[in-house]
Amino acid sequence: MTFIFYQKYHFCQVPSRGQVNGRSNAAGAGQARGLRLEALPLSFLWFRAMMRSFNSTYSGLSTTVFETMSRLAREHQAVNLGQGFPDDPGAPDIRRKAADAVISGWNQYPPMMGIPELRQAISTHFAHHQGVNFDPDAEIMVTSGATEAIAGALFALIEPGDEVVLFEPMYDAYLPLVKRAGGIPKFVKLSPPDWRFTAESLMAAFSPRTKLALFNNPLNPSATICPPEDLAMLAHFCMAHDALAVCDEVWEHVVFDGLAHVPLCALPGMRERTVKISSAGKIFSLTGWKVGFVMAPTEIMRVLSKSHQFLTFTTPPNLQAAVAYGLMKEDAFFKGMRDDFQQARDYLANGLKGLGFSVLPSQGTYFLNVDLAPMGVHDDVAFCQKLVAEHGVAAIPVSAFYAEDPVRTIMRLCFAKKRETLDAALERLSRIKPA
Ligand code: GLN
Repeated sequence: MTFIFYQKYHFCQVPSRGQVNGRSNAAGAGQARGLRLEALPLSFLWFRAMMRSFNSTYSGLSTTVFETMSRLAREHQAVNLGQGFPDDPGAPDIRRKAADAVISGWNQYPPMMGIPELRQAISTHFAHHQGVNFDPDAEIMVTSGATEAIAGALFALIEPGDEVVLFEPMYDAYLPLVKRAGGIPKFVKLSPPDWRFTAESLMAAFSPRTKLALFNNPLNPSATICPPEDLAMLAHFCMAHDALAVCDEVWEHVVFDGLAHVPLCALPGMRERTVKISSAGKIFSLTGWKVGFVMAPTEIMRVLSKSHQFLTFTTPPNLQAAVAYGLMKEDAFFKGMRDDFQQARDYLANGLKGLGFSVLPSQGTYFLNVDLAPMGVHDDVAFCQKLVAEHGVAAIPVSAFYAEDPVRTIMRLCFAKKRETLDAALERLSRIKPA
């Protein structure tokens, strides 16, 4: 606020505070824009500046829990198992492709929908891995990360007053974006240990005014995969209410124990009403790349492309070239990635169990959850703050993923880390007595 006021003050060439106080109103005879300001008491201007209203969705928001916890982790030299990113640098050949494309490739605007070779690779990749077919020329778009894809889809599809079904816990970007688009959120609450919805909870959330359901599967932070019967039930509700489904499926490749991801768009009747969103950052453990993909029927894609053209317009072409190469890698590459994360999951889970922590199952994502209730902890935020400040381990309190009536007894930990990182965290956690 001070900064904004200073800018206005400077721009209008209003004299400094001493000069204002030392002058009469007669000075300068009224033509300069700053003079009107000069005539007003400074305290009034401050009041005005302080009371100026900005967009209420954003002005009321705090910084994301991921950014906050990573900052606290740096401040306290903590082991950071909060924000979800691997500490492995990622496959060297894919990164080499990106580097080569920076040096010898195209570095001007790529086509707005994404470079043709990446759209073709996306089409081939998802036909091969999930049995879904999208036309690379009409049904696929590249975005600057999945979050842009979600924002773009919400802005393009929602009319003010439309109802949007959201499943809590939900990724923290969802609700502000729905509100900014004018949507009315209708929550379905999921709770541990199984994090499942029921026909009753869907019935309470869906209505004739439902425009779309925003659905994350596999689900972050619960680390669960929606069971097939629940997926079918959700599809039934979408069709019965003629609602669209915007599916955040960024964790689709990071699934364990031989489980396979089933995209909602593969269910009968859902292809024509679903927007499927994926992320190269998650597929290749390169979270900073921010290359997302959107797949949707032509009619929906037409409007999605209109919001994308005025959000980011394009995505770095060199990263797109590297992702196109990566998507065509052999199955063993994706299996190897899953196996590595599964081993890391087991390593952290077993270590935590050995220390007496209550660990919930993790079927996918980079995360596992610890139930704090058996420790008598009922305020996950206070617990995580103390954990990072006093014990040097950063985690994410799962209540941050709820808009109302949060579950407050779950702590999310990221296991996508090297053994030494997990060992350091376990050693620090061993100083806490869970029971
Ligand atoms: N998806 C990451 C997580 O859940 C966070 C991304 C971010 O920091 N915005 O940890």
